[in-house]
Amino acid sequence: MRSKEDLRATLRRIDGRGYKAYKDIEGNFDFRDYVLHVDRAQGDPFATPSNLRVRVNQKLAGFSRDTFGNRSREIALRDFITRAFLGASRKYGKGGRGTGKSGLLTIDQPDQEILERTSVFVTEEFVEARFVMGLPAFGRKIAGRHAESMFFEELPQIVRHSLFCENIDSEVMIRHIQTAEDADALRDQLEGLDLVAFVADGAVLPRASGIDSRPLDEGKVVPFESPQSLRVTMELPNRGKISGMGIPMGVSLIVGGGYHGKSTLLKALEMGIYNHIPGDGRELVVAIPSAVKIRAEDGRRIQKVDISPFINNLPFEQKTQEFSTEDASGSTSQAANTIEALEIGARVLLIDEDTSATNFMIRDHRMQELVSKDREPITPFIDKIQQLHRDQKVSTVLVIGGSGDYFDVADSVICMVEYKPMDMTEKARAIAEKYKAERKSEGGDRFGRITQRIPLAGSFDPSKGRKAVKISPKGLKTILFGVHPIDLAGIEQIVDTSQTRAIGEAINYAVKQMDGRRTLPEVVDIVLKDIREKGLDVLSPRPVGDFAGFRNLELAAAINRLRTLGIKHS
Ligand code: ADP
Ligand code: MG
Repeated sequence: MRSKEDLRATLRRIDGRGYKAYKDIEGNFDFRDYVLHVDRAQGDPFATPSNLRVRVNQKLAGFSRDTFGNRSREIALRDFITRAFLGASRKYGKGGRGTGKSGLLTIDQPDQEILERTSVFVTEEFVEARFVMGLPAFGRKIAGRHAESMFFEELPQIVRHSLFCENIDSEVMIRHIQTAEDADALRDQLEGLDLVAFVADGAVLPRASGIDSRPLDEGKVVPFESPQSLRVTMELPNRGKISGMGIPMGVSLIVGGGYHGKSTLLKALEMGIYNHIPGDGRELVVAIPSAVKIRAEDGRRIQKVDISPFINNLPFEQKTQEFSTEDASGSTSQAANTIEALEIGARVLLIDEDTSATNFMIRDHRMQELVSKDREPITPFIDKIQQLHRDQKVSTVLVIGGSGDYFDVADSVICMVEYKPMDMTEKARAIAEKYKAERKSEGGDRFGRITQRIPLAGSFDPSKGRKAVKISPKGLKTILFGVHPIDLAGIEQIVDTSQTRAIGEAINYAVKQMDGRRTLPEVVDIVLKDIREKGLDVLSPRPVGDFAGFRNLELAAAINRLRTLGIKHS
């Protein structure tokens, strides 16, 4: 290992030289309190910034075992330190030091969720932060003195204020860790209580805006308050007893007038698969880990999905046991999204009428009279929703203000009235009794088969030009896999670009598990198991700081949207 004085001398030596000379600082440097790893020096001032790591011996860093002793705590602490590093980099980093990205010093940027990330690691032996720097230059000439300031003035301050426990506000840190641990404990209790989700009394569900996931201003919020009949009490390791609304397994409707908070509640449940930071308002809003948002997504590609539980007898005898299209309709896309989620093992479907295809959701009496069943390929969801629970043990939470026909198939009916949930199950039942729906059920006796498909490795090509593998996220909702864009806009539970980046790499990793026999669920489960055992680092040949955790469901969903995906004939 080189000494830090060696780094200083090198920076002085290459000052004013061509940018490529920055390659001379790749390597490891002993800063006494920590080791600095320059893993990759960028090729020019506009290129992707350089990758660096700082590793502090845990004896010096001083995070007690207690703060990362279980998985919940470890992930929360790593998230907390990432935020501390980011805060310190804003405070002690000077920024703009020349051309292009010169002067940049930053780390992965978390939002409201606490996700597993590769930005920070904490073990018994060390604390490690992975960050990026824009090595400074004027034009293409190295600004060695500026680099020296970054390495010897800015970075030590940032490290001191984020990776050394003694400089961290321990109360804030403990609260962060305990909040995540409580949320995990809460989520773990759902199944045993026959619940699919839980929303604590006092929770703040609405967000600041459609593009700002922070909570809505306190003065404008109606805090969540469970109806008495659905209220359950839970015991948490840190908070102790809390109460809130438990949404039971089976079929639950969220009804109510327009603008009364239905979608906001459902959105909170969708995000209930993640833990949230203190102050978010959804710290104690949780859903079963395999809960999936299902929506219509017209235009998507579908490859050999058995959508026959929902769709049959298409024009021109198109087979729906192995249905393929380059351009799905609203209803076929929603059918495929549902079946694909079930294929991977979703146990709860979250559906909002706002983003659903009407003809997938309902076919009323008059329409049944006008268009006979043999002329209508679609069996609406209303006739499958109970079978789904009975045959497949899959629950549904459905926002539907537009059709009371669903009262016939609901186990619970929650009505939002001015942002307050009311339990209207009995009333809805009485109405269903009094005004009999005249529609006929069209769903048959059973839900039908869920087929597990076998993906073909040869249908994936991550190459681009001379590069054998080139996978890049383009914002949150697109992955460029080689030259093939994968559109993730319909996968609403992806919340972080670092998830998108990791999923992109995970697709390539998944391809290596495809042997012509393994099914898609088997393949994605191997990937997730490897990540669980070895960490997200398995996805990359070199250490990177901007991967975040994701589920098997999102990985499969991304694979399903690759437009070259090939599926083996069964
Ligand atoms: P719906 O789906 O019933 O039409 P939304 O859930 O879209 O209604 O909510 C309508 C508006 O009300 C949104 O702007 C949302 O931010 C706001 N809102 C939702 N819940 C609350 C609440 N508890 N307190 C204050 N405003 C809320
Ligand atoms: Mg709505």
